[in-house]
Amino acid sequence: MFELTKNKSLYAYVDGKYIGKDEASVSIYDHGFLYGDGVYEAIRAYDGIVFKLREHINRLYESAKSIKIEIPLSKDELSGLVIEVLRKNQLRNSYIRIVVSRGRGKMGVDPRNCPKPTIVIMAEPREPLFGENVKGISAIVSSLRRTPSWSLDPRIKTLNYLNNIMAKIEAIEAGVEEAIMLNEQGYVAETSTENIFIVKDGVVSTPHPSQGVLRGITHDAVIRVARELGYPLEQRAITVHELYNADEVFVTGTAAEVVPITRITGRKIGEGKPGQIFSKVLDGFKQLITKSNEGTPINR
Ligand code: PMP
Repeated sequence: MFELTKNKSLYAYVDGKYIGKDEASVSIYDHGFLYGDGVYEAIRAYDGIVFKLREHINRLYESAKSIKIEIPLSKDELSGLVIEVLRKNQLRNSYIRIVVSRGRGKMGVDPRNCPKPTIVIMAEPREPLFGENVKGISAIVSSLRRTPSWSLDPRIKTLNYLNNIMAKIEAIEAGVEEAIMLNEQGYVAETSTENIFIVKDGVVSTPHPSQGVLRGITHDAVIRVARELGYPLEQRAITVHELYNADEVFVTGTAAEVVPITRITGRKIGEGKPGQIFSKVLDGFKQLITKSNEGTPINR
């Protein structure tokens, strides 16, 4: 049976084995490492419920299908492994990462070099990206555009995050927390790792997934929360002018959760503090995350 050491080391699943996280590794010939050739998911568990596990697993298989990686496990088997990793690590609140790369193979981009995908599942406690109860972050509008859907569709959650990382570097250089990226047409897309919402005159708007963004699972949940709270919600193209002049702006993502942006490229957004609709939506989201019908319980 599996035992945790006293200092509660964490174990990762690597291709069928559970290995201490400091020893766990993949080959230097893994095409995930060599070419960013692979897909991933980031998931959270709250109080023993893996939030939207089914939706994350579905998105992972869609990403894999798009880049033609066949995951050699059924969705149920992979979901079971996620639960197993949490149980073995005795984690009820955790940030989970599933990585599926093309696998190990000789150099060269040809995917036929890799006979079998590498599968890694990691889980560890992780604070929300910008901290707990964050009172607002600052952002810039990045000079970089999101990769267009006809090139590398942002709906594929690939291991190749350079487009987003370069935007994040711009944010860091500008001394702010986030970078808002536009799509190819110049409409608001998303931040480096979050979807974005604006509020104007009581109407909540957000780019539709066809606007060249990742279809965020937190985004979908927050859309539902906002609608259930009775706010009109539009999924449409949003201009930078609308962004600057919004009453409220907030972002959503598994790592960040739901966070207000109160300053964008030197402009105060609304009152420059978290807005009322944001607060209501955040409360609604918090009510959702530990409900067992919104996720998969660790102890079944
Ligand atoms: N957009 C991008 C580019 C992301 O990397 C993420 C994080 N996965 C999101 C949006 C938010 O998606 P989710 O709510 O599913 O975490």
